[in-house]
Amino acid sequence: MSKNIIIIGSGIAGLSSGCYAQMNGYNTHIVEQHSLPGGLCTAWERNGYKIDGCIHWLVGSSPESSFYKYWEELHALKETEIVQHEIFTTIETGTPEDKKIFTVYTNADRLNANMKKIAPEDTAEIDTFTALIKKFSSFEIITDTPPELMGLGDFFNMMKMMKPYMREFRQYRKLTIKDYAERFSNSHLREGITAILDMPDFSFMVLLFMLGWQHAKKAGYPIGGSLPFARRIENRYLSLGGSIQYNSRVKRILTRKNRAVGVELDSGQKQYADIIISAADGYSTIYSMLDGKYTNKKIDRMYERLPLFQPFFMLSLGVRRDFSSQPPMIVRLLDSPIVLEGKTHHKIGFQHYCHDPSLAPDGASLLEIMYTSDYDYWKNCAQTPDLYRKNKAAIAETLIGCLENYYPGIRKEIEMIDTATPMTFERYTSNRNGTYEGWLLTPKTLTMRIKKTLPGLKNFYMAGQWVQPGGGLPSVVKSGRDLISLLCHKDKKILKISPS
Ligand SMILES: Cc1cc2nc3c(=O)[nH]c(=O)nc-3n(C[C@H](O)[C@H](O)[C@H](O)COP(=O)(O)OP(=O)(O)OC[C@H]3O[C@@H](n4cnc5c(N)ncnc54)[C@H](O)[C@@H]3O)c2cc1C
Repeated sequence: MSKNIIIIGSGIAGLSSGCYAQMNGYNTHIVEQHSLPGGLCTAWERNGYKIDGCIHWLVGSSPESSFYKYWEELHALKETEIVQHEIFTTIETGTPEDKKIFTVYTNADRLNANMKKIAPEDTAEIDTFTALIKKFSSFEIITDTPPELMGLGDFFNMMKMMKPYMREFRQYRKLTIKDYAERFSNSHLREGITAILDMPDFSFMVLLFMLGWQHAKKAGYPIGGSLPFARRIENRYLSLGGSIQYNSRVKRILTRKNRAVGVELDSGQKQYADIIISAADGYSTIYSMLDGKYTNKKIDRMYERLPLFQPFFMLSLGVRRDFSSQPPMIVRLLDSPIVLEGKTHHKIGFQHYCHDPSLAPDGASLLEIMYTSDYDYWKNCAQTPDLYRKNKAAIAETLIGCLENYYPGIRKEIEMIDTATPMTFERYTSNRNGTYEGWLLTPKTLTMRIKKTLPGLKNFYMAGQWVQPGGGLPSVVKSGRDLISLLCHKDKKILKISPS
């Protein structure tokens, strides 16, 4: 008889777990607190604009990438056009009096030429940097075997795949982006490299992978954006026979004699299954849904100490102006600094989505300004709803004022304004502190492995960004696939992939 599984959360990890489980003869039912699939991979509509809340680049978007087959298995890119950007971002560096434009071309040779124009004195390091990007453009150490099942053969195979990169990996593995930037003598380049992702403590290796995949055109943008992407995986799941129950928040995971046996919803309804998978926020799964009964020092320390991707404040604007001639992402230096959430900012970054005509009416553009925000600031504001609304509006006004300086007249062309704070991300997805990718990828977490089970609890598993440091769509899909491989292995089956 097939086993029944309840999956908590219809984010991409929950949907992935559901699809692979259905393909392998398990009966699954997803319980989701929101009214939509996708979790963080989402979008919302306002005044004729679709505000995309997630995908900027999707690793594995081209058939040349080894990851592509996973998207194919889930029909995630079916009949979808992919856009490859020529420019990743442009960053204004220096001061208003001594300003340079650092254009991060996705092609490493064009990037090399642009960097040398800014800093000919750094030629040697620039050549090293772009040679590293090219080298890591083929870096894809992916195997179908989940890490938990890797035997000696898989290990040797991995080592063989790693071998061409080992020297560089050893050399750069411990560096953050900020550390690496120090190698340039030119201050514009130091500043520009650090600002590419605006996360100075992020692993330098991961920056190399990202720029490498952009160079190889393996990480494009799927037209339609995040919600249609999630909907395609939802359709795949439903067509495989799975079921989803929306608007249903799990309050508690039910256990009996240290076995997970079911879930209790906010409504009081109880549902039972042979296996429970949580593809929801890690902290609330462990410390709230399971009352902190199945943890240990290692897990507690992880949740106490490891840094998370800091959440965003996101201002979206629908503007009756065509931005298609502009680079997709621009970081501008401000003539005079601004104060947001009590902190001084010398730059603002924004992006437009003119490459995706489905997001804005003809002749108009969707613009998004995002900056790294402070969860506690918004948590405090949210105690007083009026203050929360007032502060959101004041920040929107400050940011619009900055745009007006660069694009005179734009204020009058704004047709739609939408603001999202870390509290918004938390409210819709329950992710701790409104984080958008879980554990920050630092040199320390880069090679960290997190178990998909909890100590002392049987028939319970986790999938998604809380068991996969760094999160991101490809890795959460893989975590769902790996988890079902594990279940198949336990049930003495080999993972099957259903072609249709
Ligand atoms: C602004 C932004 C930009 C991003 N850009 C990219 C990008 O360009 N490329 C990329 O690869 N990744 C990107 N990401 C990251 C990516 O979206 C996430 O890492 C990934 O979607 C996480 O998926 P998940 O399924 O693990 O978790 P989630 O998406 O958080 O899904 C968890 C689900 O569980 C549900 N849930 C939680 N608690 C409960 C409960 N108690 N009961 C029932 N349901 C519950 C939630 O509602 C949610 O649907 C971005 C994210 C954001 C926010």
